[in-house]
Amino acid sequence: MSDWQNALDNALQAAATHEFGVIPLSLRKLPALASPHKVDPPGTPKCRGECGRFGHGVHDATSDPDRIRAMFEAARHATGYGIACGRPPHYLIGLDLDRDAEKQVDGVWELRKLCARKGIAVPRTVIIRTPRGGYHAWWTGPSDVKVPNRAGQIAPGVDVRHSGGYLVGPGSRGERGLYTLASDPDAVTVHPIPEQLLTLMTATKEQPRRIVGARAAAPASGGRALVALVKFVLDAAEGQRNNRLYWAACKAFEHAAAGRLDANQAEDALTRAAFDIGLPDKEAEATLRSARDEVLGAA
Ligand SMILES: [Zn+2]
Repeated sequence: MSDWQNALDNALQAAATHEFGVIPLSLRKLPALASPHKVDPPGTPKCRGECGRFGHGVHDATSDPDRIRAMFEAARHATGYGIACGRPPHYLIGLDLDRDAEKQVDGVWELRKLCARKGIAVPRTVIIRTPRGGYHAWWTGPSDVKVPNRAGQIAPGVDVRHSGGYLVGPGSRGERGLYTLASDPDAVTVHPIPEQLLTLMTATKEQPRRIVGARAAAPASGGRALVALVKFVLDAAEGQRNNRLYWAACKAFEHAAAGRLDANQAEDALTRAAFDIGLPDKEAEATLRSARDEVLGAA
């Protein structure tokens, strides 16, 4: 079967079984149909499909089988299909979990860490495997919440797709290979997004952390020292984790007191390092607090 036929069949199936709106995609995962408005004079109001032609990207997405077939007929080079996010009836939200050994990014692990830290239970939902070994997790969302399409906001390597975005559907071929269904096709439906994850996605900015000590607002110029201290913690063997964390924290706060390092930044980095070596949150927090009190005095 040709990639085109395979993509069309899968697109039709996604539309029929889930009422997803779909568009044909090129090998580069971009909308396969070019805009019919390229020759419009400047200042022409932006058309999002009102003209009735094809080529408006994700705005063309439809679950009407005749229209899907017509779009694919107009795009014989299509090898995949995109599923529009953030639209009725499901208000699909996609979490794109990137895995790239070269860039040292692992979105799957980062999301797992985040959920463990925040106590978020992650229910089973539809999972797509990408050709590069990453995953897409699909969720349904509420109709009245706008979720920004953002890369790396909730965790490194974790991108959010919602309104105005699309997800490459299973059965699509990209330049690097096939997108396939990783979850059991019979057992799993698209699950509503956990409330706490949604809250993280819609948060405008990370809350600023409390200021540590009176002399803490020093400029962040101690980068190299901090990297070394983080490494010292990461290299800790099981029995010495807490001691190393305490020692590294004292050193970091001494640098902060001397104005060579930002205390908040140091505390963040050491908290992450403590988590990475498996120190319980409460223990790490207590250790950092006593080191801070020791060096900077109680806040
Ligand atoms: Zn138009």
